[in-house]
Parts: sequence; structure tokens; C-alpha cells
Amino acid sequence: MTSTTAKSIAALKDEMIEWRHHIHAHPETAFEEKLTTEYIIEKLKSFGITELYTDFAPTGVVGVIQGKNKGRTIGLRSDIDALDIVEENKIDYCSKIPGKMHACGHDGHTATLLGAAKYLSANRDFSGTVVVIFQPAEENEGGGRVMVENGLFEKFPIEAVYGMHNQPNLELNHFLINHGPVMASYDVFEIKITGVGAHAAAPHLGKDTILTATHIVNNLQTIVSRNLNPTDSLVVSVTQIHSGDTWNVLPQHAVIRGTVRALSTEDQYLAEERIKHISIGTALTFCTKAEVDYQRRYPATINHTKQADIAIKVAQKIVGNDKVIIDSPPTMGSEDFAFMLQKVPGVYIKIGAGKGTNVHNPSYNFNDEILTTGVEYFVEIVNQELGN
Ligand SMILES: [Zn+2]
Ligand SMILES: [Zn+2]
Repeated sequence: MTSTTAKSIAALKDEMIEWRHHIHAHPETAFEEKLTTEYIIEKLKSFGITELYTDFAPTGVVGVIQGKNKGRTIGLRSDIDALDIVEENKIDYCSKIPGKMHACGHDGHTATLLGAAKYLSANRDFSGTVVVIFQPAEENEGGGRVMVENGLFEKFPIEAVYGMHNQPNLELNHFLINHGPVMASYDVFEIKITGVGAHAAAPHLGKDTILTATHIVNNLQTIVSRNLNPTDSLVVSVTQIHSGDTWNVLPQHAVIRGTVRALSTEDQYLAEERIKHISIGTALTFCTKAEVDYQRRYPATINHTKQADIAIKVAQKIVGNDKVIIDSPPTMGSEDFAFMLQKVPGVYIKIGAGKGTNVHNPSYNFNDEILTTGVEYFVEIVNQELGN
């Protein structure tokens, strides 16, 4: 990156902070990001980006920036949604929407991609096309999946897609970049157990659903310890058991719910199969019946090697080799950028936000000191991918 480029990006900082604070004050959640989308469109138009699309999801927007010369197409993606959290920060741009808050920093991600869009629109000395993707509903509803299903990658011949997330308590403006898995899949399951209700004083006349449920919970713990390759990572967590209403009745029904996190499709499918077999088999032991509803929600976020290498090169160029952490252990949280990575090659990286409150906490706030680093990263990605 030339010093002129770095200077032009640094000059965007105050404006980006203003955008970020505006978005922070007006948080909107899954597929309700109407004002946010309007705000993004207004900004993109003011940058001279006129090719805009809003038809890949109920909210969100996609903008197209053509370079001076013809060439390949790449995508840069930001999530734009907030969370259902009551903000506890005492700041002058605090959330104005009751019960909603930008507690994951997607306000900052949006401002970063807007900054990159503004720079790239004014400096089109690249060969090809940059598609900026402002994606809604990352947190729960899989807006990334919806955009993919609605033909985002059929409409644009995107050859590589780049996403990023801020990370509190990773040193300020350090990068964390992985080859392969970076975040886990996210699935949920529900096991309905049906037995025969009875008087608690006459258990021999019933088929006990609570006893069945507790054995199923225990047996599910053998998936990780006995079925999983010991060098892999997998989480099977039971998070709810519901049954019974009083002291002297063996209830006829019980429900178990929980979640599975895996770092590969193979392990995700292994967990699904074993949960079904164990539940049904354990219920048989106690003459009850188990029905399993397993829902695959988000796949694992798995980076592609070529794009991870490009991201590493770019990050090292911007902040220096010592501030780029490569191939650290993945986290077991999940991210719907995974759907985009299933469709086209790409990479999802993290930028250190320095010491502070972690995401999804009512006192979290995005660190404005990483805004320009994010823009430098995106701009240099374009330079590497589409540079003359
Ligand atoms: Zn989040
Ligand atoms: Zn997030």
C-alpha cells in the first residue's frame, strides 16, 4: 500500500466514525434492517455507486464498483444486524431503539465496508469488479444463507469473497487468519420422549420418560468421548430438559433440547446420526419412544487456502508480520459467512479490537480505532486480487 493510499484512507476516519455512531444509535435486528439499509444506500449513492441491488434478502444491499479495466470479480462482505440486548453503555450515541443494540460490532463492520466502498469508488485503478455485500440477519436467521439461496453468486461471477469480524481482547489492530476451519457449525436438536404416565407410587405401571431422558443425556456424552476422532473438536450440549408438573406423577412426556458445534461436515453429520441412534436406542431400553428432530442451521466456517494466503500477505503488509497470527485454534461459535464460503472460495478473518468487553455483552462497544485498518485490509485485498 502506498503512503498516498494510506493517507486517503486515514482521511476517511472522522466520517467513518460518524457513520458508525449513527448506525450504533439505530440498531435493527434480523430482516428488519430497513433504516440501516436506507442509510447504506444513501451513502453508496453519495459515493457515486449507482449499481445497487436489494433483492437478495428482505433487507441488506449489494453494490457494484467497476474498475477502470475489465477483469475478475471479487466480493467484500459486512454484516449489518444488531441484537436483542438492552444497551448499558453511557455514550451520546447510545441505542435509541428499546431492547436492541449493536453488541457484536456489525455497526463497525458496516462503517468499514462503507469506507472501503467510498475509497474504491473514488480510486478505480483496478482491473475488474468489486461487489460490496451488506448482509442482514447474521445473528440468528442466516441472512448469508438467504442471499446465497436468492442467487447472489449466480448474478455476479464472484471468484472470491472476503469477510471480517472485530475481536475484543485480541491485541489492537492485530490480525487472526486461519487456513481451514475458523468457526464451528451450529445445529440444534430436540428429542421428544413418550412413555406411559403413572402414579409415582406405582412406577411398574408406567414407562418412565424422566429416567429415559437422564440416560439419553448421559449417553450423548459418549459421542465426543467414543465416536469422535480424538484429534477433532466437537461440542454436544444439552441445554434444556422439560418434564413433569408435580411430585406424585411420572410424566408421560419429556423433551430434551440442545446444540451441536463441529468444525467439519463429517463430524457434524456424525453427531446427527449418533444423537438419533442413541436417543432411539436408549428409549427402547426403557420401553419408551424417542423422536429426534435435528436441524442443521449454520455450517462450519472453513477458509480456503489460496484466499487465506492472500489475506495473510495483505495483513502482513499493512500491520507487519509480527501482528498477524496464523492458524490459531478455531472457536466453537458460528457465523453465516459459512454459507458464502460453501459456494465460492474466500476467507473470514478477525481484527483485534484491543482490551475491552466481549461481544454480545450489554456494555460492549465497537472500537473505532480499527476502522481504518479494516478499510486498508479491504483495499489491499482488491489491490492483490485485481491490481494491474
Ligand atoms: Zn454476534
Ligand atoms: Zn458478529
